[in-house]
Amino acid sequence: MTAPPTPVDLLIVDTLIVTMDKERRIVTDGALAVTGDTIVAVGKSADLRRDYSARQTIDGRRFVITPGSVNTHVHVTGEPLTKGLVLDDTGFEENVFQWLVPVHMAYSEADERLAGQMAALEMLRSGTTCFLEAGTIRFLDPVVDGLTEIGIRARVGQWAWDFAPEDQTYPAAATDAAIALLADEIGRYPADDGQRIAAWPILIGHMTCSGALWQAAKQLADRHRLGVAAHMSPVQADPDWYMARHGKRPVAYLAELGAVGSNTIFTHGVHFDDAEVDLLAEAGANIAHCATSALKGAYGATAVGRFPEMQAKGVNLTIGTDGNNNSNYHDLMRATYLLAGLFKDARRDPSLFPAETALECATLNGAKALGLADRIGSLEPGKKADFVAHDSWRPEWRPLFNVVNQLVWSADGRGVHSVWVDGVRVIDNYRCTTIDEERLYAEAQAAGERIVARAGLPVKSRWPVV
Ligand SMILES: [Zn+2]
Repeated sequence: MTAPPTPVDLLIVDTLIVTMDKERRIVTDGALAVTGDTIVAVGKSADLRRDYSARQTIDGRRFVITPGSVNTHVHVTGEPLTKGLVLDDTGFEENVFQWLVPVHMAYSEADERLAGQMAALEMLRSGTTCFLEAGTIRFLDPVVDGLTEIGIRARVGQWAWDFAPEDQTYPAAATDAAIALLADEIGRYPADDGQRIAAWPILIGHMTCSGALWQAAKQLADRHRLGVAAHMSPVQADPDWYMARHGKRPVAYLAELGAVGSNTIFTHGVHFDDAEVDLLAEAGANIAHCATSALKGAYGATAVGRFPEMQAKGVNLTIGTDGNNNSNYHDLMRATYLLAGLFKDARRDPSLFPAETALECATLNGAKALGLADRIGSLEPGKKADFVAHDSWRPEWRPLFNVVNQLVWSADGRGVHSVWVDGVRVIDNYRCTTIDEERLYAEAQAAGERIVARAGLPVKSRWPVV
């Protein structure tokens, strides 16, 4: 007597699956079974066809199935509606203070909601199913509402700070108010029950936060089993400021405050020195490496960045795409390709960041950094049904011989055919199922033009636009 097949909602059969499980199995003639928001089984098609009866069965012959990518640093407000405004000869300070600050203050609540949806759409369409926000500029609630509608997984939070850099138009919050803001949003968007969207204490970082605020954010994260994220040391200005003010480099100063732990994510970290890397490794901390901003902003990631050393010493290295004016895109597959290549060339060492390692950074390491390693990052029974069907019937994919090598070096987000988050097919045949893409593009163009006008900024072009 054989047991009757178990009913499931979805079975994808006859496909190629990159599981990212502990053995890193790549399953040919593979199948994936899903019920509700959960993966039930991953294995050979013949076995799963025998063991499960599905409400819907998908022929997966044209697909390569992978876990969804995890983008660990992305500005979903403040920049998506002014994408491309800032030209690529703009330095860090000029970018932040002459362009971004006026633009940030010109976004309305509706603009921030729309921006969040645009960023999420670009991520989903290129195979990212989960992200960590860099910090909502001003209006978290409508952003969460928009992200909930589109169906992506995220950890979000309004960014907090209590030091105003001089000559800025941003209002500086008092420390108590900044801490209250963080505590309030964690209460409103808790993560306890596996919620798809939840709030984290997120700091702007750099030189904008007092020691008291760093400590409070870390303590909130510890108490609620969340993480704390902040920008640090994309350029030399951060270490210079910490040395002048505290006599210590940033990571040393923050470690002494107790603000560096396994739930801390520093974004950039280009100008961390060896001692800082050791402190991060000791703490089991995380880095969100944003190669695209380093390239456009001339940060020196390949010249002075110690990313291969971080990787070798066990710092949890993850990948972010940052903002739409210092990076311009949120396709994490393109950023993963950069991680695989930049340091091979910079160090003249092809052994650095093999495709498999780069793919781990984009999936498993991101999941770990977000405290979600038991739920996402790999395709295994019991994990959330967050996965991507790459279309291998495309010129960049055929012939197909070595799937991980080709995922990182041949493919990018253009070939993402379908995406599931929590078992819901949010991208189907290259189209988003949860929102009207055409309407969103029209609204984004109109809102972007209004924001640029309100901020009083020119739309520059080095060539005549006739
Ligand atoms: Zn950023």
